[in-house]
Amino acid sequence: AKETGRGRAEDYHPEMDAEREERNMLEIDLRIAIERRELAVVYQPVVDAEDWRLIGVEALARWNRKGYGPVSPEIFIPIAESTGLIDQLGLFVLHRACETVRQWPEIKLAVNISPGQFRDPGFAVHVGSVFQKTAVDPARITLEMTEGYFIQNPERARAAITKLRQLGVSIALDDFGAGFSSVGYLRQFGFDRMKIDKSLVQALDEGNRAADLLQATVALARSLEIPVTAEGVETQSQALQLQLTGCDELQGYFFGKPMAAEEIDKIYMARNKR
Ligand code: C2E
Ligand code: CA
Ligand code: CA
Ligand code: CA
Repeated sequence: AKETGRGRAEDYHPEMDAEREERNMLEIDLRIAIERRELAVVYQPVVDAEDWRLIGVEALARWNRKGYGPVSPEIFIPIAESTGLIDQLGLFVLHRACETVRQWPEIKLAVNISPGQFRDPGFAVHVGSVFQKTAVDPARITLEMTEGYFIQNPERARAAITKLRQLGVSIALDDFGAGFSSVGYLRQFGFDRMKIDKSLVQALDEGNRAADLLQATVALARSLEIPVTAEGVETQSQALQLQLTGCDELQGYFFGKPMAAEEIDKIYMARNKR
């Protein structure tokens, strides 16, 4: 729009250029950070809903951008997704997390997978080789994915999921209850677990309708015989409600924030002392 002589003043948006520029810089820095293996992985406790004992962790990527400080995954994951960096990033997180959980034999590991990672036809093979290299039993691993891809490209999604499950991992439908989560996907794709989105959990403190919705959601999972993890549990009252409703596993700040492996290690040691 800049080259048209007239109207130039209206069409020129310096703030848009600045935004684009900032995004380009972010992308360049992210690429470098991934190549240099500078991303970190933190682990959030997942507890058994009945006794609140540590039974698993979810791996979450962290990026401390040189010269700037921490950048939220809500910012850098979408950039990685739109630039293809997600393939490398995703496998890095999986590899690092698998190495880490070897020290906690009884603990399950959940890792997030972006829809874009399915575009790589060798994805399942790469995942399998991570399990081999790290000697981690795939039965301990759950790959979490949101439904976006299943809506966009159901056939390819099904094929990708089938290949992954042949490796022996479980597949969870993440963020259920946020957006258009549909029962159809749960059944059609044979998910092994449902993760109730934190927005639904946090609404519990706000009134009865949320409790009804939660109950219906858990009942649904029950009828399909799919275990349920609730995420974003911040208060004891939420934890108790979720427990009563029949959720199987709980996760959230009330039980523990995402933390370095060394911190999880302390919880794990304490757990195994009893
Ligand atoms: P998610 O998979 O839904 O992960 C849960 C998010 O909720 C995490 O945010 C976690 O820190 C946050 N959370 C946990 N407990 C609570 C709580 O009690 N209250 C509140 N308010 N939040 C809680 P985080 O780490 O910022 O990650 C955001 C999203 O970025 C993740 O959402 C996931 O979609 C994506 N992400 C993070 N790491 C990776 C990765 O390695 N690969 C991919 N593909 N995506 C990732
Ligand atoms: Ca997740
Ligand atoms: Ca989630
Ligand atoms: Ca999410």
